[in-house]
Amino acid sequence: MYRAPRGTSDILPKEQAYWRYIEQMVVNVCQLYGYQRIDAPAFEDTQLFSRSVGEETDIVEKQMYTFEDRGGNKLTLRPEGTAPVCRAYLEHGLHNLPQPVKLYYIASIFRYERPQAGRYRQHYQFGYEAIGDDDPALDAEVIDMAWQFFLSLNLHRLSLQLNSIGCKKCRPSYLTVLKDYYANYTHDICSDCKTRLKRNPLRLLDCKKPLCQQIAVSAPRSIDYLCPQCETHFNQLKNYLSLLELPFEINHCLVRGLDYYTRTVFEIQPEAEGAQSTLGGGGRYDDLIEELGGKPTPAIGFAAGIERIILNLKKQDVPIPPPPPPQVFIP
Ligand SMILES: [Zn+2]
Ligand SMILES: [Zn+2]
Repeated sequence: MYRAPRGTSDILPKEQAYWRYIEQMVVNVCQLYGYQRIDAPAFEDTQLFSRSVGEETDIVEKQMYTFEDRGGNKLTLRPEGTAPVCRAYLEHGLHNLPQPVKLYYIASIFRYERPQAGRYRQHYQFGYEAIGDDDPALDAEVIDMAWQFFLSLNLHRLSLQLNSIGCKKCRPSYLTVLKDYYANYTHDICSDCKTRLKRNPLRLLDCKKPLCQQIAVSAPRSIDYLCPQCETHFNQLKNYLSLLELPFEINHCLVRGLDYYTRTVFEIQPEAEGAQSTLGGGGRYDDLIEELGGKPTPAIGFAAGIERIILNLKKQDVPIPPPPPPQVFIP
């Protein structure tokens, strides 16, 4: 008997009502905020991901489905949705349109991870990107949109976590202070964190091991080391979020797992479970388009895993509207 490969699943007819419901809500919220749909291919040149996500990240080191095709090209099934959208933005000259260009996608994502509840090796994400503007008002809009999306799904008891991790100008000095702090704990941190300390110190802050988390709580905070521009940007953002009455909490340990993030990072989590089961998250990536060969182009985006949303809809017993009945019935 054949079975679906480990970490994948079939979406059977009885589950489809959830998927249609979420897709409909995605389309509604994206139209409301002026986002247009984009669909990129399921695989791209491997380099697109290793350069953007970062060579020293879990995704690139351990989780990518990379293969050589019959023509000898090195390709990777997309492990995240932002880099392909940025590649398309550059390839099709979308920088010539009025900025920011606002795009959204619903796409399959492939990561070789240990399967667990709501985490699959092939899963689906909904995400959106606003490219070409560094105004903190845009950050506020992107965060508001994510929050409104979950409210429109009737999901409750969520928390909105926010942080600023600075830019390439101010981050190096913060990382020095952070490494100095962790130098006192080299015997206490887990083996993964020992590697992170050498290669990707920012990721020390979001280790999920209990002892590492205790150490991270008292670590120096990135917001205390922001350059004046990043500080102003973050203060303005907090102001806008307060005006929108969004209940954000500053979380100094929130850094996100990808290297391309700058300044604003945020996550939406179920209150009870916290970071272990984040529903969605995003942030600014002001240098990514330039790193991919474009002009300096600030941008910000968000993505959420659809399976995890469904898991939470079920946990919270949210009633799902039945799929619409057939329009024509021939007996
Ligand atoms: Zn800065
Ligand atoms: Zn650790």
